[in-house]
Amino acid sequence: MEKIGRFGEFGGQYVPETVMNAVSELQEAYERYRSDPQFLAELRDLYRNYAFRPSLMYYAEKMTKDLGGAKIYIKREDLNHTGSHKINNALGQVLLAKYMGKKRVIAETGAGQHGVATATICAYFDMECEVYMGREDMERQALNVYRMELLGAKVTGTDSGTATLKDAINEAMRDWATNVETTFYCIGSVMGPHPYPTMVRDFQKIIGEEAKAQLMEKEGKLPDCVVACVGGGSNAIGIFYDFIPDTSVRLVGAEAAGRGIDTNEHAATLSKGDTGIFHGMKSVFLQNEEGQIAPVFSISAGLDYPGIGPEHAYLHSTGRAEYVAITDEEAVQAFEYLSRTEGIIPAVESAHAVAAARKIAPTMRPDQILLINLSGRGDKDVQQIARYRGVNIDG
Ligand SMILES: *Cc1c(COP(=O)(O)O)cnc(C)c1O
Repeated sequence: MEKIGRFGEFGGQYVPETVMNAVSELQEAYERYRSDPQFLAELRDLYRNYAFRPSLMYYAEKMTKDLGGAKIYIKREDLNHTGSHKINNALGQVLLAKYMGKKRVIAETGAGQHGVATATICAYFDMECEVYMGREDMERQALNVYRMELLGAKVTGTDSGTATLKDAINEAMRDWATNVETTFYCIGSVMGPHPYPTMVRDFQKIIGEEAKAQLMEKEGKLPDCVVACVGGGSNAIGIFYDFIPDTSVRLVGAEAAGRGIDTNEHAATLSKGDTGIFHGMKSVFLQNEEGQIAPVFSISAGLDYPGIGPEHAYLHSTGRAEYVAITDEEAVQAFEYLSRTEGIIPAVESAHAVAAARKIAPTMRPDQILLINLSGRGDKDVQQIARYRGVNIDG
């Protein structure tokens, strides 16, 4: 029997019986609507008229001159409504929920970015929205909690485990299994049981499709290298996917090395993790000697996940994509660098991609093109970067 939802050995549907009903219903619905002309037309219209796609393809002239290597382009996902690529996926999933006749949408969130994107679309579609968030994260991200409430969502704190993202996912899974009749679970990255990794990728692949067409128009050729940051991996797979068959295009993911991959304070899954099963999927995870999920650390809340989407684990295993680890200090320097050179303040997540690009571009030739996916804008991070630098902005 052919195994569904697999990327090589990775992926699959490792869920308890209680969740399997919900997963099967979603899988059937997605199979039906993923090629439905009306669904796709409505999604395209929302991308354009609500999320403001296509996002800009920006030639980073100053950075190109300064680094003295490849010609650098930046895909501006930071200019989307709500300030990141997360809206692409939230639009797709909440629209699917509507087509399935669900009245209620639940989501998990770590830093609050995916929760805000989901709450936004639920407000737009007038759907009930409940977002699970670790109690610890709620304290750290109080502004995003209030933002979700403004948008009409209910935010529920979870106290189990480390009271962070992975515990919020467990709680959302439990809710989904209990309330599957009425409820759609909107997952925030290319992770979880099939069909999520495939479905979320399909809603994000618009980034790479647009980028390819935009570069063809501007330069008449493909990029030589594409760089994106990797948490669960949705913005990275979004820009990589259309380039996977183009083997001349080097694909580079930047993971969070936190305080260094030789410390215990990082989130560099592919650099330091092992194969395992968690959150419904077989993939690569950071684990301790007993195989328990290890605590993770990064200055960037959006990259602070102990696993990675199964398609990335596969691309890593085949060598089609490479993954580098960027420390907090390198990311903060890149955050400051892009702000000064181009007048663009990136999300601290996206700054990991900028940091990787700063290392790669000088090794390339001026007739080559390096494309950076700028997954989000940095307004949300300014306060934290000031604190990291010891700047007092509290008056
Ligand atoms: C959530 C987030 C990420 C990390 O998630 P992926 O699924 O790896 O893309 C990266 N950048 C921004 C701006 C985010 O909000």
